[in-house]
Amino acid sequence: EAKSAGRDTSRFFSLETNNRVMARQVMEAQLRQALDHHEFTLHYQPRINAKTRQVQGAEALLRWSNPVLGQVPPGQFIQLAEETGLIKSIGLWVLREACRQWMAFEAEGLFTGLELSVNLSAAQLADADLVDQIGQVLRETHMPANRLELELTESHLMDNPSSAQEKLSALKRLGVNIAIDDFGTGYSSLAYLKRFEIDKLKVDQSFVLGMLDDSADAAIVHAVIALGHTLGLSVVAEGVESGPMAQSLIALGCDELQGYWFSRPLAVPDFVQWIKGQPEGAERRKAR
Ligand code: C2E
Ligand code: MG
Ligand code: MG
Ligand code: MG
Repeated sequence: EAKSAGRDTSRFFSLETNNRVMARQVMEAQLRQALDHHEFTLHYQPRINAKTRQVQGAEALLRWSNPVLGQVPPGQFIQLAEETGLIKSIGLWVLREACRQWMAFEAEGLFTGLELSVNLSAAQLADADLVDQIGQVLRETHMPANRLELELTESHLMDNPSSAQEKLSALKRLGVNIAIDDFGTGYSSLAYLKRFEIDKLKVDQSFVLGMLDDSADAAIVHAVIALGHTLGLSVVAEGVESGPMAQSLIALGCDELQGYWFSRPLAVPDFVQWIKGQPEGAERRKAR
């Protein structure tokens, strides 16, 4: 920002840069200890089956609460975790904790058969150990592979397409599902949809949020749903914030809906209450 303000601000620019460097160093030092200090938790945001209107699964979302920095949103620390390589251990913790929690919910009788989505970072996908680690987590936690969905973005795949293609094939052999997160925002080619073994597209929330007011956003949402279905993929909309949005997505044939209209991401006790408040579907009745 300082750059565009002109040459006179260069002195302030360097001061500001200095502060930014320091802030980054503080955050990095805190981030290095965060796992050991048990500062991470997971929140869960339900996704709803558009046909049955019942919960089909949930996405695990990482939360960091630090004594110095307070609550730090993932948008502020995931990239730093990537740059420092810390994401490998943090990402593995997320996977293990989410699968463990999911099977504990099921053992407690909270639900049967719900799916779990976990976000993967670019560095995790590039990690040669990823597939073995996921296999090990599945065995350790008894999480059924076909109920675990891994969310990747287009740019993760396009960083190194041939390596990504091999990884996805290996993940598919484990039996897990693959979803493309934030679909439509990445710099990528549509050809990869044919090439990669993908199960699901998540329409980016920017298009969904705009679809009732902006005809271009509406056209994009419409096109992504049609494209996904033509390719035999399931389509989820994220960022569903209102009833009218949900209604128009259902009318467009979107398969699943996720967003504040149904629920915000919830801490474990709130998620348990939310699930208990849902009408019981056939799946959950069978479990009793
Ligand atoms: P994402 O995977 O696309 O997750 C969706 C984000 O949208 C979440 O933000 C969620 O809280 C927010 N959201 C959900 N419904 C609505 C809605 O109706 N309206 C609006 N405006 N927003 C909504 P959050 O939790 O802050 O996470 C941001 C991003 O951080 C995630 O985007 C994901 O890319 C990344 N992230 C979160 N947890 C993890 C993790 O465990 N591992 C990795 N690698 N990345 C993660
Ligand atoms: Mg996601
Ligand atoms: Mg997303
Ligand atoms: Mg995102």
